[in-house]
Amino acid sequence: MCLQQFPLLGIVSIAHRNNIDSFQGFSEKLSDDGIRYLTVNNMRGVEYNDRNVEKAVLSEAQYLIFLQEYLLWWIDTKLYRKLQIQPLMSFFSKEANNLCLYSNMDEKCTSNHVFSPEGYAPHCELLKDLSHKSTKECLQCRIYEFCGGGCPEVLRDNSFCEARLKFYDFLKGIKDGSN
Ligand code: SF4
Ligand code: SF4
Repeated sequence: MCLQQFPLLGIVSIAHRNNIDSFQGFSEKLSDDGIRYLTVNNMRGVEYNDRNVEKAVLSEAQYLIFLQEYLLWWIDTKLYRKLQIQPLMSFFSKEANNLCLYSNMDEKCTSNHVFSPEGYAPHCELLKDLSHKSTKECLQCRIYEFCGGGCPEVLRDNSFCEARLKFYDFLKGIKDGSN
C-alpha cells in the first residue's frame, strides 16, 4: 500500500521513556513515506494497572526538554516544510491556542461530545470533575495564557510548573530571535 494515496492521513503517537529517542528518525521515515501530519503527545500521567507502564510516563520536564530539542531539529533540518508536527505547529500559531492540554478556556473539557463503546458523554471522556475551574495560582501565573494549567485529570509531577515556565521562555526566545 502506498501512503501517498492518502494525502490527509495523519499519525498520532505517544511519547514515553521507551521511544523518546526515536522521534527524529521516525519523523524522517514518515515524511519519506509521504505522511504530512504527525502529533506527538505525552503519555498521560494517570494511574495505570501495570507498574511497568506507569514507569514509562515522562515527567513534564522530560517531555518538554524532548520537545525543545525536537523543535530545534525540525527547524534546522527544515522538515517543517514537509511534515507538520503538533503540538509544535500550535506553539507558533497566531490563532488562540486550541490544544486542550495548554488551553486556558474553562470550557475546554466540556465542549466535546464523545461517542464511544462506553456510550455518550457531553464532555471529554477523561473528565471526572465536571466542576473543575482554574486555580487562583494559575490565574495569577505569568504564563497562564500559554499553559492553561494543563489537563485537570492528569497527575502533575513536581517538575510541571517550572518545566512549563522554562519552555515558555524558550519559545519566546525562538520567536523574538534571541534563542
Ligand atoms: S505554570 Fe503552573 S501555575 Fe502557571 S499556569 Fe501552568 S500550571 Fe498554573
Ligand atoms: S480532560 Fe484533559 S484531555 Fe480531556 S479535554 Fe480536558 S484537558 Fe483535554
